[in-house]
Amino acid sequence: MLAQRMSLLSGSGTAAAREAAKDAASAGRQVIDLAAGEVIIEPPSSVREGAIAAINAGTNRYTDSVGLPPLRKAVAEKLCAETGIGWSSDDIVITAGAKQGLLDAALALFNPGDEVIIIRPCWPTFHSQVLLAGAAPVFVDARPPTYIPDIGTIRAAVTPRTKAIIINSPNNPTGAVYDRTTLQAIGDLAINYQLWIVSDECYSSLIFTGSRHESIVMAHPGVRSRTILVNAFSKELAITGWRLGYFAAPPEIVSAAKKLQSHTTSNANVIAQHAILHHLHTGDGRFERVMYQRLFDARHTCLRILAGLQDVPPPGAEGTFFFYLDLSRLISSLPPGSAVRTSDDVARLLLEESGVGSVPGSVFGDVNGLRFSFGAPPELLEPALKKIVHTLNSLNTRQAAF
Ligand code: PLP
Repeated sequence: MLAQRMSLLSGSGTAAAREAAKDAASAGRQVIDLAAGEVIIEPPSSVREGAIAAINAGTNRYTDSVGLPPLRKAVAEKLCAETGIGWSSDDIVITAGAKQGLLDAALALFNPGDEVIIIRPCWPTFHSQVLLAGAAPVFVDARPPTYIPDIGTIRAAVTPRTKAIIINSPNNPTGAVYDRTTLQAIGDLAINYQLWIVSDECYSSLIFTGSRHESIVMAHPGVRSRTILVNAFSKELAITGWRLGYFAAPPEIVSAAKKLQSHTTSNANVIAQHAILHHLHTGDGRFERVMYQRLFDARHTCLRILAGLQDVPPPGAEGTFFFYLDLSRLISSLPPGSAVRTSDDVARLLLEESGVGSVPGSVFGDVNGLRFSFGAPPELLEPALKKIVHTLNSLNTRQAAF
């Protein structure tokens, strides 16, 4: 008999979408997988070289549970440069990806009975971790076309039990980038109601609208003492499998994470820590520029193709490497006998008929959405996007079930 907490968790919907694409490919179908949350590109050579040098130097032992001191220092310096705010090693915890940082925050902060506000559509791990900590997620819907949450709606969701708000900008899945006014208003609200802010900024290096990433601690410096700023190298350096992330937080959270990590993972993988340290010391920024330009160009090309969609507004895709379509108008315009009623049906149809893997919005708590990545190899994107446009535009003219 499993522990009750296991009944709180459903499997990862994004992983299920990826598996569906893989299954179709292993069954011999031609599949272009746009479901994955990663950029398919060779990571920087400095990361590989750092890892190989660490292995050859016989680096095998545990590190401090919150990470190698020089890596904490290098991350603090990176964060100073990016935010214009002073950070020191003591503020930084090195984690096994952003996921561990978020779990540290949840376990350190949330008690049974606490409520935690999460902006929906949302990456599903946020509420799974809140549930694991025994607390209750309270969802606030951010609506299309901007997917920027309305402050009045967030305020209305606050109760005496509210302990924290989790935000994620640039946002997975919607690609929304929160503006300064919104961040400031969330900051004011957190101060007024004494809330913690967990700010997941994993996609901070991927904004395509000409503006730079603004962390909530930049928009509202007054919230620093109540904010856990979570980030990772997973997306920025295309090394999702290396499992290296970090967070910056007030001293009580850093101490809690020290205990938590000492009893869970002990430390993030030592080779990965050395690899990133080497990259931070020697990287010249070329990889980051090349990846950014590739995604910038891919986004541009894809948006041109998506402009051909008939009943679906073009996605904003301001940040991240995801397009998020709002299918509500399309779905509601379908004839009553249509086999397509939900975005799950659309995702299944796209995979079965067009061989394109995507993630239905239901995974993110939104029955009307559809997410697909432009981090796939560029030569695959154009044919895949054309198939998506063709399939979606043909929905209205077909009657037959698929
Ligand atoms: N946060 C968000 C919003 C994500 O989309 C993801 C991965 O898709 C993560 C965190 C996990 O990052 P990591 O692989 O560094 O644990």
